[in-house]
Amino acid sequence: MVREAPNPTTQNQFYPFGERPMPQSKNGKPVNPAVVPLHDVAKLPDGAKFVVVGAGMHGMSTAYHLAKYLTESGKGKGSDVVLIDKAGPGAGATGLACGCVRNLYMTKPLHAILRESVKVWKSDPVNFGFQQVGYVSVGEANQESDYIALHKSQNDQGYPSDLYVGKDARNFLKSIWPDFNTEKADLVLHEKPSGYAGTHMAVWGLDQKCMQYGVRRCYGPEVIGYEMQNGRVTAVKTDQGDVKCDVVVIGAGAWTPKHWEWLGKGAKLDLKYKDGRIAKDHDMWTYWRLLEGEVYMPEGVDFRTAQDRDSPVLHVELMNTPVVAEDGREFPDKHFYMYARYAAERVGAPGIQGGTIPVKIGGKADVEPYGHLNDKYQADDWFADYYCATLSYLFGRFKGSRKLFKERRNGGIGAFTPDNVPVFDWVAPNAWMIADSNHGFKMIGVGELSARHLTGGALPDELKPFSIKRYTDGWTYGGGNSNCPWV
Ligand SMILES: Cc1cc2nc3c(=O)[nH]c(=O)nc-3n(C[C@H](O)[C@H](O)[C@H](O)COP(=O)(O)OP(=O)(O)OC[C@H]3O[C@@H](n4cnc5c(N)ncnc54)[C@H](O)[C@@H]3O)c2cc1C
Repeated sequence: MVREAPNPTTQNQFYPFGERPMPQSKNGKPVNPAVVPLHDVAKLPDGAKFVVVGAGMHGMSTAYHLAKYLTESGKGKGSDVVLIDKAGPGAGATGLACGCVRNLYMTKPLHAILRESVKVWKSDPVNFGFQQVGYVSVGEANQESDYIALHKSQNDQGYPSDLYVGKDARNFLKSIWPDFNTEKADLVLHEKPSGYAGTHMAVWGLDQKCMQYGVRRCYGPEVIGYEMQNGRVTAVKTDQGDVKCDVVVIGAGAWTPKHWEWLGKGAKLDLKYKDGRIAKDHDMWTYWRLLEGEVYMPEGVDFRTAQDRDSPVLHVELMNTPVVAEDGREFPDKHFYMYARYAAERVGAPGIQGGTIPVKIGGKADVEPYGHLNDKYQADDWFADYYCATLSYLFGRFKGSRKLFKERRNGGIGAFTPDNVPVFDWVAPNAWMIADSNHGFKMIGVGELSARHLTGGALPDELKPFSIKRYTDGWTYGGGNSNCPWV
């Protein structure tokens, strides 16, 4: 096992390890590449019934399910679907996500989205790299009413979870991890259907399925705008020519604000809340940057449970507890918020991957170059010390783990909606947008639900709560007892 991590801080994550050359540049900036090799790429056609923009989680899941349902129903064929990405599968957030699949949301409608998503993850766990190890979240007493509400809603929605309070919470934690520090653990929610997926594997699996169902996968052309007539999108304009379309699906991740602008939409809006409050002139999109990292397992240590099973994903938010490193150093302006999952497939050796609360950037950000290639948006210097401090506080086995932090680039940015809750909706009469507010790698089922609707079905109940009308109709989501925007 590698004991001392290399320090390729000037490189993108894939390059030092894959010994690949730096990616191509466009307009003087390197383009974040696909995370899987490109093969059997189609020529850009003049037109198609469905044009899907973006080969991330949502674009690929939608394209695959569209092709599947068109074929199975006899309403069409896979080649009616054209999938366009300027780089290829996983070149956005999907390729670098941590891959956690959880349902820990105060926004209750998300519970049904995750139920449907786990159905898709489980439809082919091997080719999606899905590990259904469960998800254990730990909180302090101040979150008790939230945990109770969340637990009830999850179970009502057919997403089984167990809630443990007080001594039961501590006993549960000790039963799976005897070395866990339960001092501040007043609450535990154990989501059984949750887990994680290896991001590259999921990308590969989705790309394969798109190919097998006959989707015309056009990797290379960059969308540069939309041709519109009477409010409808008549063609998707690319730097390699226009593609006429009946319907366009936009799954553009962090690039969504640009596509929004091309569709003629405004950068600001007034948000109306249920209590009558109005937030005037709010940014439609706000960028945040994520803080993540990886830690090798100490020699002779594993991340298995006392039952010798793969550990569930761990999530800890202690709103009244400071983070203190093993040498006594405090992080006074930081909250105790961490998540961790076993990630050998990502670390390249036995290890874990995790992160903390993202940092707000604002209404504007340099999306290019994306991901690990962008010097401005990597995890801050304090992150490694902070993250390892949370690990060593929580687990006896991770004492002294700071030296095992993998010093390499980590992070990425996302475009969040005004209430940090996804928008899945028609944004023009024939333009369907999937804007997941940067927490939707787990939401593989949104593409399936969307495809059901786009092939003629009624709007699924699961998608209705994510209408964009909520901002103007007075049911903008809000609140949530957490220091994190994802609630
Ligand atoms: C560091 C990090 C960690 C994360 N961890 C998790 C996690 O553990 N669990 C979780 O559920 N979520 C996580 N997320 C969030 C999750 O990764 C994203 O919400 C999700 O992957 C977004 O998928 P997408 O399909 O919308 O966009 P993306 O994956 O960003 O895909 C968009 C694609 O559109 C293409 N594109 C954009 N504009 C154009 C154009 N003009 N022309 C052609 N192509 C274009 C891009 O090349 C890109 O490939 C994380 C995000 C980050 C950044």
